Amino acid sequence: MRPLKIGIVGGSLAGLFSAILLQMDGHDVTVYERSARGLAGRGAGLVGQSDLFKVLRAIGCEHVARIGVVARERIYFDENGDVAERIATPQTQISWDYLYSTVASKLHPQTYIVDNAVTGVEQQDKRASLTFSDGRSESFDLVLGADGLASIVRGAVNQDTTNRFAGYVAWRGLIPEGDLPVGASILLDRFAFYITRGIQVLGYLVPGPNGEMEPGSRRYNWVWYRPVPMSDLADVFTGKSGKLYEYSLPKGELSSDRRMALVEDAKAVLPLPFALAIEAEPHPFIQGIFDYTSKRLVSKHVALIGDAAFVVRPHTAMGVAKAAGDALALRAAFARSENLEVALAEYERERLAVGNEIALYGQRLGARAL
Ligand SMILES: Cc1cc2nc3c(=O)[nH]c(=O)nc-3n(C[C@H](O)[C@H](O)[C@H](O)COP(=O)(O)OP(=O)(O)OC[C@H]3O[C@@H](n4cnc5c(N)ncnc54)[C@H](O)[C@@H]3O)c2cc1C
Repeated sequence: MRPLKIGIVGGSLAGLFSAILLQMDGHDVTVYERSARGLAGRGAGLVGQSDLFKVLRAIGCEHVARIGVVARERIYFDENGDVAERIATPQTQISWDYLYSTVASKLHPQTYIVDNAVTGVEQQDKRASLTFSDGRSESFDLVLGADGLASIVRGAVNQDTTNRFAGYVAWRGLIPEGDLPVGASILLDRFAFYITRGIQVLGYLVPGPNGEMEPGSRRYNWVWYRPVPMSDLADVFTGKSGKLYEYSLPKGELSSDRRMALVEDAKAVLPLPFALAIEAEPHPFIQGIFDYTSKRLVSKHVALIGDAAFVVRPHTAMGVAKAAGDALALRAAFARSENLEVALAEYERERLAVGNEIALYGQRLGARAL
């Protein structure tokens, strides 16, 4: 493919993987990210999967996959709080923050533009153009929508852009491991679950914010999936500041009354170690669980990648791997064809099927307990 001028909307992992691979092949790529200082320090951990390892090898970051905390077994609690099942499947949780900052360092200098929210996308005959929040606009041979769940680029490709609420939310916490009380120490070094009708809670250790792996400097990540009627969603996502958020309730926005109610609920229905881990988090936050599946991934000079294309449920632990697979497929399609339309059609053919499959898998996992 001849060198193209490419604008990528969204500077999380889908945007970064694609930008780096396409820059390596000689394209002129710029990433536009709306957050003011980038995303460092805001993630937890993720489970490495084969497409992630492939992309890391391709961009010279394979060492990142070794910075992870190993959970030596999976344990499942029963309703009495006893360990009902142990499965010896060691699993490594990679640090999201270390992954993000290492990968970001591979971009060409000056090509990751923060504090640059895209407010509009338009397609002309041979180009696509982006408008930014400061009123500026710029045109490209290709625009990639890597702008996640709340994508605005989606609208240039699909008529239906609506994320559908899955009927439950994930309450989440991330605490220094030293803050876990002694009564919760069984959770350390294990991937722990409690799954029963209407309740799904899990937790595991992740590295420290800078990839620290020594005992004492890691963090404990817990997730409690809880059903919420659609009619209550606005209340759940309204913060103590009075602000209503569309898809989540960020850290710092939960009132102390609501936090106390969460802690009481946890003590009433969860095994004690999980209840203690939840109590140890001073600032829980809430992530809404939504589904979105694209009918199309490309339209003339615009393509969708990552969560903008398919929002997959967190139970799959495949959001990052899918983003990596999208980026690899796009690059491969570009390498095989001199014609942009042909390359994009090939990308779409391959990744629509994969995205649908992962989305359905996530829905099945969610339906098991909630
Ligand atoms: C801060 C953060 C922390 C995360 N932590 C974890 C984790 O610990 N474990 C895990 O498994 N997954 C985590 N994820 C999710 C995971 O990274 C994604 O599944 C994966 O990156 C694929 O999603 P994406 O890159 O397509 O979209 P996302 O990761 O959702 O990123 C979309 C990006 O687009 C930007 N954006 C949105 N709209 C605009 C706009 N109009 N103009 C410019 N920029 C825009 C957003 O600010 C964001 O950076 C995290 C995501 C984020 C953003």
